[in-house]
Amino acid sequence: MVDFHGHVTHKLARARVLAAWRSGHIDKENICDAEFLLVAAAKYHGTPVNTPCPICEHNSLREVFWVYGDELGRMSGSARSLEEIERFVQNGLEFTVHNVEVCPNCKWNHLIAAAIAAPTGTTDGAK
Ligand SMILES: [Zn+2]
Repeated sequence: MVDFHGHVTHKLARARVLAAWRSGHIDKENICDAEFLLVAAAKYHGTPVNTPCPICEHNSLREVFWVYGDELGRMSGSARSLEEIERFVQNGLEFTVHNVEVCPNCKWNHLIAAAIAAPTGTTDGAK
């Protein structure tokens, strides 16, 4: 099992961006700017989300997990499935996980949450 701690949600920032877009304060080009790598990661490693894209309303919205940390070595800064994340943790690694929402259709992308993944029992149990 994976313990996620230090969880930080970015849903408020996401809501602000969407509100600014709806009121015309920012252009779609500025928020729908996912790079090729991010879109590819969303397609191959992403988990489908049960809500439509907030920008184009296409139903291909996905969530991707990006992992960061010195203990990961060269794997730091790559997209990983939840199964892989569980395996890293089982191997005793501790690292940061970024949960990013990506729409392959219009290239909308936003950080949803960030947390530290660590083996169960090594943290204080805070969720
Ligand atoms: Zn979209």
